Amino acid sequence: MEKPSASVIGAGLAGCEAAHTLSRMGIRVRLYEMKPQKHTPAHKSNDLCELVCSNSLRSDKLDNAVGLLKEELRRLGSLVMECADATRVPAGGALAVDREGFSKMVTERIKSDPNIELISKEITSVPDTPVIIATGPLTDGELMKSIEALLGDSLHFFDAAAPIVTLDSLDMNKVKRASRYDRGSDYLNCPMTMLEYYSFVRALTSAETAPLHGFEDKSVFEGCMPVEVMARRGDQTLAFGPMKPVGLTDLTASDGKKPYAVVQLRQDNAEGTLYNIVGFQTNLKFPEQRRVFGMIPGLESAEFMRYGVMHRNSYLKSPKHLTSEYELRERSGVFFAGQITGVEGYIESAASGFYAGLCLARKLKGLPSIDFSRKTAIGALAHYVSEYNGGSFQPMNINFGIMQSLENAPRDKLKRYSLISERALNEIDELTFEDRIWK
Ligand SMILES: Cc1cc2nc3c(=O)[nH]c(=O)nc-3n(C[C@H](O)[C@H](O)[C@H](O)COP(=O)(O)OP(=O)(O)OC[C@H]3O[C@@H](n4cnc5c(N)ncnc54)[C@H](O)[C@@H]3O)c2cc1C
Repeated sequence: MEKPSASVIGAGLAGCEAAHTLSRMGIRVRLYEMKPQKHTPAHKSNDLCELVCSNSLRSDKLDNAVGLLKEELRRLGSLVMECADATRVPAGGALAVDREGFSKMVTERIKSDPNIELISKEITSVPDTPVIIATGPLTDGELMKSIEALLGDSLHFFDAAAPIVTLDSLDMNKVKRASRYDRGSDYLNCPMTMLEYYSFVRALTSAETAPLHGFEDKSVFEGCMPVEVMARRGDQTLAFGPMKPVGLTDLTASDGKKPYAVVQLRQDNAEGTLYNIVGFQTNLKFPEQRRVFGMIPGLESAEFMRYGVMHRNSYLKSPKHLTSEYELRERSGVFFAGQITGVEGYIESAASGFYAGLCLARKLKGLPSIDFSRKTAIGALAHYVSEYNGGSFQPMNINFGIMQSLENAPRDKLKRYSLISERALNEIDELTFEDRIWK
């Protein structure tokens, strides 16, 4: 009998992982990659699975959610993790890789896989046959128009994000709950004295920013201006903008006086464990974000679950369009994976590629679907992108805040995270026991 077949478009982190998973399930795969004929403005190499920026895949520890996601992927037989582990370079508690060695190894594995045919071609429309679209955050041109026409929606162009911090890392002796004009107590407020405000503005305006990658049209950032750019327009700009102290009558700053400026944090997840810093979209380097935003009263030891980032980022309104298996609600057999679904980061993209590949393969073989629950990091990402029901949907790194919380969680954060990881890995071990997910 002919093997079932499927296409994967884009051979980045998500596409390579998806193709490998489909192949492992016995599906014949046509993997389309537009390199070397055409490169996005961020891609430079001709190899597959290119890391466009940092060579770090972030923490490799189980008390960190991305460390957990890596371990889940290892146990699931991920190609990206196998090649990352084989090409790792010293980086403390993080997993960093020899960038070229990593991409070369993935490329060789894909090219030597008898089930995968690598085709060098730009795809310009959504195919009618079973497919996983994994063309990344810089998806553009005719393919983007075709996706937009299919969804009746425009892909977001998301230029800047504000950092997200955990509630339990904030100093609640300094942070006060209140909403402006007595409209409840939804916001967390960090009041500042005049001295604190000016020191903060000085640090912000002189802090180091991350390089923009040459393709961003700086003029498009006007509507979503980074906080450091706003601050450079004048000492008072922030005090009259996102840090205005108005409507917060009961607040006092550390000198006991009315605050000169106030930083507000808004709840970011249903469980109320994550907060974003309102109006603080930024392009500062990550250590600079820790240093400068750590000057905000109450944020001295803030734990950043997502740093502010700036780059072009096309992604679907996934909660409207995708199921928790990354399949389009509008058209059966069309799956998306990677950053285009609203997961953020190398490992998150690989994880969604694995899951989409597994789900499409099981569908093609008439096997029942496998549900990774929110107890696992891989499942939490899939449920986040397909079920998020807050305000505007924005890309998200894996973090413990989007995973199912523990009953009777210990107060100690490290203990809590270790228990969440243990529970997740038990679920993965059950799913992989006697190769259950592959049959
Ligand atoms: C400037 C920049 C910096 C970043 N820095 C980091 C970082 O430091 N750390 C991090 O974790 N994440 C970073 N990211 C996010 C990063 O893009 C993702 O983590 C990851 O690369 C996404 O994987 P992906 O497989 O979804 O897409 P990609 O890795 O972008 O892969 C998409 C692939 O599809 C191909 N393709 C696109 N369109 C077509 C088409 N029509 N036909 C055929 N092939 C096509 C592309 O050539 C590419 O090979 C950055 C993103 C950008 C844009």
